[in-house]
Amino acid sequence: MSIKKEKIFHGIPVSSGFARGPVFVYQPYLPVISERVLKPDDIDSEVERFRRAVRNVEAELRELHQQVGREMGKDFAEFIDVQLALLTDEEVLNETERYIREQLRNAEFAYSQTLKGLTVSGRAAQVPFFRERFADMADVSARVLSVLLGDNLPSIFGVKPGSVLVAHQLPPSDAALLDPAKVAGIVLEAGGKTSHTAIMAKAKEIPAVFGADAILKMIQEGDEILVDGYRGLAILNPSANRLKTYEAEIKREQRRRASLKALVEEAPVTLDGKMIDLSANVEFLIEARQAKDNGARGIGLFRTEYLFLARRRPPTEEEQFEIYRDVAELFRPFPVIIRTFDLGGDKVIPGYTEANPFLGWRAIRFCLDDIALFKNQLRAILRASAAGNVKIMFPMVATIEELRRAKLVLEEAKKELRKEGKPFDENVEVGVMVETPSAAILAQQFARESRFLSIGSNDLTQYTLAVDRGNERVARLFDHFHPAVLRLIKNTIDAAHEQGIWVGMCGEFGADPMGVVLLLGMGVDEISVVPGLLPETKQVIRSIDTGVAAEVAHQALKLSTALEVERLLEREVHHRFTKLARSLHAVKGAGGE
Ligand code: PEP
Ligand code: MG
Repeated sequence: MSIKKEKIFHGIPVSSGFARGPVFVYQPYLPVISERVLKPDDIDSEVERFRRAVRNVEAELRELHQQVGREMGKDFAEFIDVQLALLTDEEVLNETERYIREQLRNAEFAYSQTLKGLTVSGRAAQVPFFRERFADMADVSARVLSVLLGDNLPSIFGVKPGSVLVAHQLPPSDAALLDPAKVAGIVLEAGGKTSHTAIMAKAKEIPAVFGADAILKMIQEGDEILVDGYRGLAILNPSANRLKTYEAEIKREQRRRASLKALVEEAPVTLDGKMIDLSANVEFLIEARQAKDNGARGIGLFRTEYLFLARRRPPTEEEQFEIYRDVAELFRPFPVIIRTFDLGGDKVIPGYTEANPFLGWRAIRFCLDDIALFKNQLRAILRASAAGNVKIMFPMVATIEELRRAKLVLEEAKKELRKEGKPFDENVEVGVMVETPSAAILAQQFARESRFLSIGSNDLTQYTLAVDRGNERVARLFDHFHPAVLRLIKNTIDAAHEQGIWVGMCGEFGADPMGVVLLLGMGVDEISVVPGLLPETKQVIRSIDTGVAAEVAHQALKLSTALEVERLLEREVHHRFTKLARSLHAVKGAGGE
């Protein structure tokens, strides 16, 4: 309870659940560096002040290395080694000292001038790949400057257990490092429902609300916040009454979740007996285990780019092989669909910018421009295919040529492995992610050259409606029920079936109960969702008759607006899917206000 005045922020519900805790504000650090001229007598002590700051940061980083390694695994701690190397780089240290002595300037000014000089001289730009070290360099220099200036440095690792992270924006690379045991909830001013940060929050089962406009301006030291991830509410300093209502609802929600767990052993079968392959979307091995525990019948989407983002460097073939193999073994005989790197868009290493990242150097385009990196990944996936039922999927394909070129690289990888005598599945299936309007319109042609198709509704919606999936200003225009999107989904499903191949949905459309109604009505074979939503999605599947759903889908496809589709779905679910309506009511009942 708080005596401060309650304030409600209406945002976008991104990750369901409730959270309550003290606010932890996370903001990028923007040091204010002033230039000071030193007296000759002060030079030695200034140099010593600089050295001490570097020593302090070194100790801090070593401690962080231990902490991250302990809490999140060795792999995640690796980027700290890189930062330590940058921190203690002789050239930077000597050049800063020289600057202090010869230019008679204060340490923070000398240090920042040295780093600027490095960037301009291009030495920093020569480090391999994606200017990846810029991000680390920026982190390291912020640490050193904060010590010199006596500022508190916000760090994603500095979250006090049980607090709610509030920020303007959070890149997916930072979100990947969040520890769900520590962060109770997330509230962002920016971001959209299907941004990759949103997907990360869902995957980690951290309740989250994005688009909470101007919340940072209202936050004061010691504030408490309540996150309602069902309705998209962030309630600053909730009143005693509000807390009382929510306490009852949180208990109801816990009971509902516990009852869903009982569904783990049940089959994902519709009321009329159609078995749906219900699988999971994962990023890390730990999630794959969680998916297995929640009854997944395979991995429908393994987003591999996080192996890259978490390390801030390309993972080696061996590192990838071990992870892919472990997941394949875990799920054998069920399939594990490994998607090749979908880097770019909002999943870039900080420091790399493009004018239109979602229309730029992303996913398959990026991989086809870096054959060595791409082939390395394909070799790792192929090798893992010897350990289980592994399939390969290419993201953001827009042209048939891209698919053909990617397959040629795959053939080269196979040839190399044969020569080296390394085993793999010669018949490994290759599929395409249908997530560009081009691929959905040409689904027939893509289906002829693929073994399966998997629809990525997040990007398909973004590209069809020309709405940035991560921009809160246009979030209300992002609607996967738009009839234009539905028609592309239908075209893709029909095209796959005409060619005799299976088709799945791995976008967030499949995590929406109303989306499941339409998908089953359109005849989809597989649905893949984040591990935490598996029981809920199974319950939805088990409440649907595909014949009735087909009639609803047929009507929906004739409508003109997303709102008309949503109204139709609500009406039809209420009247014709009573079992589903009951379970949806239970979910809604868990909401606040
Ligand atoms: C999609 O675009 O729907 C999808 C599943 O891929 P991602 O969200 O990783 O872009
Ligand atoms: Mg996508």
